Amino acid sequence: MNRPDDPPLGTSGDAAEPLKERDFIRQIVADDVRAGRNGGRVHTRFPPEPNGYLHIGHAKSIHLNYGIAQEFGGKFNLRFDDTNPETEETEYVEAIKADVRWLGADWEDRLFYASDYFDTLYAWAVHLIENGKAYVCSLSEDEVRAYRGTVTEPGRPSPNRDRPIAESLDLFARMKAGEFPDGTYTLRARIDMAHPNMKMRDPLLYRIKHAHHHRTGDAWCIYPFYDFTHGQSDAIEGITHSICTLEFEVNRPLYDWFIENLPVPHEPHQYEFARLNLTYTIMSKRKLLRLVREGHVTGWDDPRMPTICGLRRRGYTPEAIREFNNRIGVAKADSTVDYSLLEWSIREHLNRVAPRVMAVLRPLRVVITNYPEGQVESIECLDNPEDPASGTRQVPFSREIYIERDDFREDAPAKFFRLTPGREVRLKHAYYINCDQVIKNDRGEVVELRCTYDPATRGGDSPDHRKIKGTLHWVSCAHAIDAEVRLYDHLFNRPLPEEGDGFLANLNPGSLEVLTGCKLEPSLAGAQPGDRFQFLRNAYFCVDTRDSRPGALVFNRTVTLKDTWAKIESKG
Ligand code: ATP
Ligand code: MG
Repeated sequence: MNRPDDPPLGTSGDAAEPLKERDFIRQIVADDVRAGRNGGRVHTRFPPEPNGYLHIGHAKSIHLNYGIAQEFGGKFNLRFDDTNPETEETEYVEAIKADVRWLGADWEDRLFYASDYFDTLYAWAVHLIENGKAYVCSLSEDEVRAYRGTVTEPGRPSPNRDRPIAESLDLFARMKAGEFPDGTYTLRARIDMAHPNMKMRDPLLYRIKHAHHHRTGDAWCIYPFYDFTHGQSDAIEGITHSICTLEFEVNRPLYDWFIENLPVPHEPHQYEFARLNLTYTIMSKRKLLRLVREGHVTGWDDPRMPTICGLRRRGYTPEAIREFNNRIGVAKADSTVDYSLLEWSIREHLNRVAPRVMAVLRPLRVVITNYPEGQVESIECLDNPEDPASGTRQVPFSREIYIERDDFREDAPAKFFRLTPGREVRLKHAYYINCDQVIKNDRGEVVELRCTYDPATRGGDSPDHRKIKGTLHWVSCAHAIDAEVRLYDHLFNRPLPEEGDGFLANLNPGSLEVLTGCKLEPSLAGAQPGDRFQFLRNAYFCVDTRDSRPGALVFNRTVTLKDTWAKIESKG
């Protein structure tokens, strides 16, 4: 079992190492700085496409880029690579900005959009045509694909490959002017149809798309492809280290070709690292969008989603996500990180900062028959034994209390140290009680317990120091406040959700359990959306930011107190 101070096995990063040169990318940056490349400047960026919400994988990229800028005294930009008018929306732009800020990355005044560079990109496309390095092509999308060849066979040249420069210039200008419908022409680079790297086989630079863009409106009806935009945007911004994920390794020769053949003000260099993969999690935005659109989750911020807004609503903290990123490190080879490491990170942080409270999720009434009727005692409880600065609060105790249903068993096995007829247990911060009588309904279900308490055990110890194995949490019935509690489990029931019949077939039907009528200690009455707590002996919870209301509180379970997965799997 993992105590909060034992990270799960398989952790690659050692958080104690100095950050500055702990991975291969930081080593490259450090070497460049030492060698005075780029005038000793370090400038990174995070370049999302605004076609969905950010997820935990993006957080890895953000922490890497922002972390490097900070550690090397450099700069960090946020840039939206917004070249696809049909899938991009302002809603996503705003959500991404909020998430990057929440994660703690600061772009200061350097917020950019690739669409800001459409004029420059257009001029650069004309430059390529003028130099015989691009041409307007009339092949359809399908034909372009068919002509491209395969990995083993070279491609065939487009019939327009040798179109006179003047003709291409004229057509390209008319494409821009809106003379042609979608799909009639494209602009392509003239590189090498037999190149072993398929990306170099006369790649597409521009397409006609009569579509409204979230920023440029209807100013354009031709749009540059991502590949013709990304590297040049970095060049325009003076990005020194263009850090991206491994799947862009094959694009690098093409990006370099653009940089070599265009009058760019600066030459960025691209470095690729392995993207984050997490067990029980999918990260493709397209698939996450399907989960949302098809109603498998309640939205992008459903607390079961791996999105930043989902994790935030679930109760995760930016500190925990940063610690997680420090732990997983940055490598060149793909791997899959165990979800329990993410859980360990949040547990570790909440253990330090979350106040402890008592909450009974599945209540069972206990009447303490020898406790004076009408009497209420105020018991002082420490908020967080892990936090030296933590305060105390008063919790009322009275004759009738709730305990957890699971904390009582009529026919208890020998190792059951909670409440059972004839055995004494400790009520946390209060008294010892003994179970004398079990009350059942007509169906034979236990509905109430009758107990007696020992007045000499106030505060949780007895004058004779008798040994008590079980300590239960409790809530006074008359003072309890009701709440709804949402218990989450993995969204998928397989560690690799894409396996078998695909991610939709592997959804976990038990990923959400809603408990109503939970009983909380009264100090929680004023709990605010986003507040985080440890429900003693249970788990960490946070007040839901969407559905919770004063008087009708809703709590999300952030993470259990212990790594139950590791326990189950190792027993398996
Ligand atoms: P898609 O899901 O459509 O493949 P994407 O996640 O690559 O999209 P982008 O908006 O292009 O979306 O990503 C922005 C940046 O985040 C890119 O630099 C990308 O390399 C990085 N990134 C995306 N996913 C991960 C991941 N799982 N781990 C680390 N970095 C990632
Ligand atoms: Mg992408």
